Amino acid sequence: MSCVFCRIINKEIPAKIVYEDEKVLAFHDINPQAPFHILVIPKKHISTLLDLDESDKEILGHIYITINKIAKELGFAEKGFRVVTNCKEEAGQTVFHVHFHVLAGRVMDWPPG
Ligand code: AMP
Ligand code: ZN
Repeated sequence: MSCVFCRIINKEIPAKIVYEDEKVLAFHDINPQAPFHILVIPKKHISTLLDLDESDKEILGHIYITINKIAKELGFAEKGFRVVTNCKEEAGQTVFHVHFHVLAGRVMDWPPG
């Protein structure tokens, strides 16, 4: 299997996991862009945001509830955080398994680069 995030889900390559259940996995980004940089992914392989369909509504809600829990548990809920999903090349997507970047622990610039 060539998808790096599916390989993390299958425990074929290591990751610093912060949350896992039957539907989602959350782990530290290997190249953090903030003091906290967590990736939250569905266990189902979905390449990009554009590949989501009606059957994925529940998983999307579950991902955001998971982000909420992680923010409280890791201690950055109070000050705030940013959630980013890059969709396809021009946005900078490099891993084609949909993922939600959760960035926290510093002041974020706007607009993003
Ligand atoms: P994107 O560029 O939005 O597709 O984000 C992909 C993210 O995955 C980048 O921030 C990478 O640093 C991260 N990444 C790639 N490989 C791994 C890995 N093996 N473990 C953790 N994070 C990874
Ligand atoms: Zn995958």
